[in-house]
Amino acid sequence: MKDIHYRLPQHRALVTELPGPASTALTARRRAAVAAGVGSSVPVYTADADGGVIVDVDGNSLVDLGSGIAVTSVGASDPAVVEAVREQVGHFTHTCFMVTPYEGYVRVAEELAALTPGDHEKRTVLFNSGAEAVENAVKVARLATGRDAIVAFDHAYHGRTNLTMALTAKSMPYKAHFGPFAPEVYRLPMSYPYRDADGLSGEQAAQRAIDQMEKQIGADSLAAIIIEPIQGEGGFIVPADGFLPTLATWAREHGVVFIADEVQTGFCRTGSWFASDHEGIVPDIITMAKGMAGGMPLSAITGRADLLDKVHPGGLGGTYGGNPVACAAALAAIDTMREYDLPARARRIEGLVLPRLRALADEVGVIGDIRGRGAMLAMEFVQPGTDKPDPELTKAIAAGALTQGVIVLTCGTYGNVIRLLPPLVIGDELLDDALTVIEETVRSLVREKSLV
Ligand SMILES: *Cc1c(COP(=O)(O)O)cnc(C)c1O
Repeated sequence: MKDIHYRLPQHRALVTELPGPASTALTARRRAAVAAGVGSSVPVYTADADGGVIVDVDGNSLVDLGSGIAVTSVGASDPAVVEAVREQVGHFTHTCFMVTPYEGYVRVAEELAALTPGDHEKRTVLFNSGAEAVENAVKVARLATGRDAIVAFDHAYHGRTNLTMALTAKSMPYKAHFGPFAPEVYRLPMSYPYRDADGLSGEQAAQRAIDQMEKQIGADSLAAIIIEPIQGEGGFIVPADGFLPTLATWAREHGVVFIADEVQTGFCRTGSWFASDHEGIVPDIITMAKGMAGGMPLSAITGRADLLDKVHPGGLGGTYGGNPVACAAALAAIDTMREYDLPARARRIEGLVLPRLRALADEVGVIGDIRGRGAMLAMEFVQPGTDKPDPELTKAIAAGALTQGVIVLTCGTYGNVIRLLPPLVIGDELLDDALTVIEETVRSLVREKSLV
């Protein structure tokens, strides 16, 4: 693995309490100007970011284990991305690919055809956000099949637009009072090894869903199955082995489009280019966004040419989709992923982190499950001796780690999962330091709450 050079010192260093006075002042201004409906997990304002650190407006250096929700896999100011963006903005920021097209868009499409699973003929369309990619994957599936119904799963997260809210499982905060939702969306049980009945295999969990598709929907009414190969916001749920291949095979046999939503899992995050690779799944359409463009807003659908080319010219697109600056950033970010072998780096992070989390789980008795792949790892917190979720403890751990300068995010249907999503370029020492903070935070909260 090639050595990574950083612009900012890669250390944790606090010069004020968190949040510091400058962040607190910004929070006051924000309250008067920004709508309350936009939340922030961390009440600390960013001044600079590089590698595994975020420097705040008070001069504190924090360890970033969130990557802006799995986006800055190559770091938040990867030199190659920065240079490519500078170069592109000096020429043109926008022309609209639907008006006067440009090569960057075509090159991104070529890269995605090469990187995504399967060696079949593929086509790509670029958009701005993950939700927009998901919406368009569904549009293509419906047009190509002439069918209406879409299957999504328990704990799924696919976005916040109207159709993607319907696909997303969790009511609060994503859906509550924002309806009515798009019709013809059916929700089926996911494979969730920690909470499924003991011994339920991946194949059996898939069969449970297949029975419902056949009995309640009818395969010939079903346009697509959409699934995250590892669920993100829903709790980093890794389905049992065999679940995804069984569903994908059934979909193929019944002319149902299998859409892998790899918006969070894609681009090296799970230790391979795509999470579908782990079980040899070849999705008909794959949706991508977060890690793809080094922090610039870009998303994509890549899928079977025969499906995508069914759509009439003008049926897909958008003013900003595949913006040239975002495309330049994506091409540079993909080069960085190759140059530094970031899939290998994600596997190395797993090797460093998983044993520590497992040891912690054995020690404290409030961690029901440790799971994930690559640099997408999670702990599910429960009340001692039960599998009852403990969202309060989970929140307290994230808040406690933050006071020590470590940013961690929570997730999960029950709000009881701490998820680790470090930039893949984070150094071993910094990661080690952040893990020590997390371990000590968990230990001290467990002691304080007399949970042992
Ligand atoms: C974040 C996410 C989305 C939505 O992406 P946005 O860019 O926030 O619209 C969709 N699917 C998955 C799996 C995600 O993690």
